Amino acid sequence: MTTIYENNPITTELADRLRAMPKMELHVHLEGATDAATVWELARRNKVTLPAATLEELQSMYVFRDFNHFIDIYEMAMNCMQTADDFAFMVKRFLVKQAEYNIRYCEVFLSASFMLDNFPQDEVIEILIEGAKYGKEKYGIELRFIPDIGRQAPETRHKVLDFVLKGYEKGIFIGLGLGGVEVGFPPNLFTDVYDEARRQGLHIVAHAGETVGAESVWGAINDLKVERIGHGVRAVENPKLLEYLAKTQIPLEVCPHSNYRLSVTPLDQPHQMRALVDAGVFCTVNSDDPPMFSTDLTSEYLLLAKQGFSWEELWQLNLNAIEASFLSDEEKEVYRAEWDIFYKKVDK
Ligand SMILES: [Zn+2]
Repeated sequence: MTTIYENNPITTELADRLRAMPKMELHVHLEGATDAATVWELARRNKVTLPAATLEELQSMYVFRDFNHFIDIYEMAMNCMQTADDFAFMVKRFLVKQAEYNIRYCEVFLSASFMLDNFPQDEVIEILIEGAKYGKEKYGIELRFIPDIGRQAPETRHKVLDFVLKGYEKGIFIGLGLGGVEVGFPPNLFTDVYDEARRQGLHIVAHAGETVGAESVWGAINDLKVERIGHGVRAVENPKLLEYLAKTQIPLEVCPHSNYRLSVTPLDQPHQMRALVDAGVFCTVNSDDPPMFSTDLTSEYLLLAKQGFSWEELWQLNLNAIEASFLSDEEKEVYRAEWDIFYKKVDK
């Protein structure tokens, strides 16, 4: 079985609403959001040989197969990036896509551990600042970045923190993240840099509870003292953790398609989001690495609708993103007002 569980046919009206509603995304990776056409163009510019003779062939490689294939595609995308200017191109392509799904604000991960030695840091920071400015002017989209440490490269953690602090001073980086291989690389390997990041005023998040269960989420909470958890869906396996998350309202950045594609959720089962929301856990909806999982933020909401989430519930999840974001309260107020206008318009 390769199709994802659905049990609730939805109306065109609901689908249209979910498409049209203004959205926020708090968990999306710049490199992972790079589609086949962009990788093709980067490879052509940089004379990188791809394992595909045509763009169509490359596009067919983006059809999800398994975890190892996903990593291969992710690495292929990263290998095609050779100059700091490539970031400008990727950000522009990223913005076109985000605009298509009415995404108004994004907090975007950058795989810092694997790029720091290959690109001049100051130049990358300037390019991202320019990209964010362009996004605001051309699409009215606000972008902020959260560089992350690759767990499988713990030795890069101090270097990544220094990079984050440089961009933080310039207002383009807002926090520190932790991604990559969860198995074998527990959160406590990173406690020192997380303590320092917190002291410096950075926001802190980490992927946890995706390929490793509850202990990884506890580690992110207790050792790293994260403000939000990337995925965290395997918390459903541990009632104590579920209760703790509901009590503390630490937001989860939930990415349904990603979980199905990486077998974190069995294809014939409803997504863990149902159990999380029913337990009172604070959840947001996100797309993670959209082209690699054949998804986008609208499709994530549509999938939840097809699994029985009501309009009210989906709208609440959309509101949650504002509250869980790292915007100032003043900035959140602007988005709350925009969301409110939309809600009143469609929900008469
Ligand atoms: Zn992720």
